Amino acid sequence: MISIPRIRFAHLPTPIESLPKLSALLDGPSIYLKRDDQTGLALGGNKTRKLEFLVAEAQANGARTLITAGAVQSNHCRQTAAAAARFGFDCLLVLSGEAESSFSGNLLLDDLLGAQIVWASKEDRDQVLQNTFKAAWDSGKRPYLIPYGGSNPTGAASYAFAIKELLDQAGSSPLSGPPDWIVFATSSGGTQAGMMVGARLFGYEGKILGISVDVPAEKLQHHVANLAAETAGFLGESVSFKAEEVLVDDTYLGGGYGVLGPPEIESIRLFAQSEGVLLDPVYTGRASAGLVDLIRKGRFSRGEKVLFWHTGGTPALFARRYHDQLEK
Ligand SMILES: *Cc1c(COP(=O)(O)O)cnc(C)c1O
Repeated sequence: MISIPRIRFAHLPTPIESLPKLSALLDGPSIYLKRDDQTGLALGGNKTRKLEFLVAEAQANGARTLITAGAVQSNHCRQTAAAAARFGFDCLLVLSGEAESSFSGNLLLDDLLGAQIVWASKEDRDQVLQNTFKAAWDSGKRPYLIPYGGSNPTGAASYAFAIKELLDQAGSSPLSGPPDWIVFATSSGGTQAGMMVGARLFGYEGKILGISVDVPAEKLQHHVANLAAETAGFLGESVSFKAEEVLVDDTYLGGGYGVLGPPEIESIRLFAQSEGVLLDPVYTGRASAGLVDLIRKGRFSRGEKVLFWHTGGTPALFARRYHDQLEK
């Protein structure tokens, strides 16, 4: 494996906790939590790991501005804005979706962190992103483009190393050994692709199940398999992945991206009230609702160890758009 540039600023290793009360309530497998909501960098989340490599690459390229895009309540954009502030870049964020009547949640934080926001409709977000990049380039801002969700081989590589971290810590953690399952929220696929590369390179033999929050399973499986192969290549390893090997469940798409429904609300309350753990309305709320449903349907056996990988997102709990539904 070749070594790639990295700036170490994430709080690692993130802790592993057991969730005994939740496990007893659901009367299924033993449930554990990997706290990537606590990776540091302006309230944490899975993008912090990716940014350790993306920011290092931007620096190596002599960039002065970080540009990325996402939804109004994007965690990726908030964490990119924080990384830009910390490492001395300007930050341009192209945000799409229903504009909020006033800044709250991640959007409030983007502004506090000094990012400049460019609004776009969902349909022309790609075009606006390209135009924004070109204008920044032409005016000498030396922009570096981070893709949606930080999901290119550079960003995804971070989750290969996260699997190594898990294997190194598992024996002396509450898990006392590798979990049988890793379950988590998947969307732009970088997290899952990186985990699959890590499993192959470092020898994790359990299952890696992504609960899709917005993309049909077949599409995501192909995308993740390709990205995983590219990521392995980026690390100097030749590994191929078949789409069928990528485990994605798209049963829980509900009302679509960012739409909070009864399953997410139930699961957010369940984790909060049984274990004092805060999830988020868009990603971990949905993925955990899927996990809870799969446990109720008997998908896991009682002796199995299931690690729910908390990918962050809690600032979106404070987005005004979710208040009415989250309030009792
Ligand atoms: C971005 C994000 C994900 C999805 O990760 P991908 O690598 O895009 O699949 C999951 N959870 C949270 C909280 C996120 O912000």
